Amino acid sequence: MKTQVVIVGAGPAGTGLAISLKKQGIESILLEKESFPRLHVGESMTGECGASVRALGLEQEMAKFHYPVKWGTMVYGTDGRNSFYVPVMGRNSEDSLFKQSTWQVRRADFDKMLLDVCEDQGIKTIKGMATDVLRNEQGIPCGVKYKNGDGEELEIHADMVADASGQNTFLSTKGVAGKRTMGKYAKQLAVFSHFEGVVRPTPGEDGQLMTDDTIIFYQKRNHWAWMIPINDKLVSVGVVTPAEYFRSSRKSMKDFLLSEMMTLNPELTKRLGDAVMVEDAHSCANYSYQIHEFAGPGYICVGDAHRFIDPIFSLGMHFTLVECRKAADAIADYLGGKTAGLEQPFADYMKFCELGMDNVQVLLDVFWSYPFAFSLYIKDPKYRDGFVDLFAGRCYVEDPPACIKKLRGLQAEIPDAEMAAA
Ligand SMILES: Cc1cc2nc3c(=O)[nH]c(=O)nc-3n(C[C@H](O)[C@H](O)[C@H](O)COP(=O)(O)OP(=O)(O)OC[C@H]3O[C@@H](n4cnc5c(N)ncnc54)[C@H](O)[C@@H]3O)c2cc1C
Repeated sequence: MKTQVVIVGAGPAGTGLAISLKKQGIESILLEKESFPRLHVGESMTGECGASVRALGLEQEMAKFHYPVKWGTMVYGTDGRNSFYVPVMGRNSEDSLFKQSTWQVRRADFDKMLLDVCEDQGIKTIKGMATDVLRNEQGIPCGVKYKNGDGEELEIHADMVADASGQNTFLSTKGVAGKRTMGKYAKQLAVFSHFEGVVRPTPGEDGQLMTDDTIIFYQKRNHWAWMIPINDKLVSVGVVTPAEYFRSSRKSMKDFLLSEMMTLNPELTKRLGDAVMVEDAHSCANYSYQIHEFAGPGYICVGDAHRFIDPIFSLGMHFTLVECRKAADAIADYLGGKTAGLEQPFADYMKFCELGMDNVQVLLDVFWSYPFAFSLYIKDPKYRDGFVDLFAGRCYVEDPPACIKKLRGLQAEIPDAEMAAA
């Protein structure tokens, strides 16, 4: 079988890339090892992530699912102190902020919806697990080997291989992309499930009650929980702690989740008194990492396949969908011959991705090391708009606004030992 781009993984990175390539007239095949719908973590969108969904032409599809509409994120500090609310806001052509909304999604439905859209557009999907990379005489990737459901070893030949395998980081494990290095928040564990009967309302920007917003509950450094409404009845609840803390509790995942819900933060406890857990407890560990060389002749990584920092401010899908569009442009230039002869045809793509993620890394580092200062600066009118931009995902900025400059100054003061221990 032969195509222009074989895409490993059909999560948002894979399907988003396939749709973006199709718009450029480039043919792709999606290779996915799981049967959809499948459960996945990562349900809250930022404002700019919602904009990416609209840019993919999916607003009508989204309406069919009646996803909860998110207007902001409420962060409850320890014992109710240091709390703050960040509204979802867009920027218009006059560079002014305006009130905007985005969505919360049940990923099983959302990812299946994206895959259905691909199939409707004639993009071929193959059920199978990529096991190896094919290379041409120059050693450049030119397809993949995969195992189908019957255990048969088959091949897909392509002009390029795109890695959208998420945390599996397929091309790095095959020695095509660079080595995976641990991120600053690597030793963490998230345990999560879905609940009914959760008390949802929180005070929004003007004090009005919001029922569909994301709520974050902070306890202490690297110890927090989320509540994300994913439909009329269901709320996703997750607890994130150091993995060692979970191990030393000697509890099952379910008991750990239930006991943390009662102790982590009083605001969380009071919302879950009558809640019923309707899904098994799942976990996700070692999710913070980075691959520096993540594109080159014949290959490109998109989304979690090259970097993930920390989930607290729900920026993962945003990075992923922005990168899909950028990657599709870069692939068009490469396959069209514009950059094909260059030693590093994807230098601009990689620089762009790292710029956005590095700016968000600063935001996260300061939040974790100086939560009190963070809660003050975010309310300071001098920096407020900059924070609103970063939370929305407007982080791809070369010339940093006052907010990022301030955060960088604070980041520089974080002791090395503290960062290493994170
Ligand atoms: C605890 C936690 C909470 C999060 N919360 C949020 C949130 O609220 N909002 C948000 O925006 N982001 C969140 N994220 C991040 C978000 O989940 C990811 O950024 C997003 O899912 C990345 O999409 P992706 O397509 O790159 O990877 P994935 O969604 O993981 O998709 C990868 C796909 O590749 C397939 N695959 C893997 N290997 C192979 C193979 N060898 N062959 C074939 N198929 C393969 C997998 O089956 C999978 O379907 C969170 C992350 C974590 C860890």
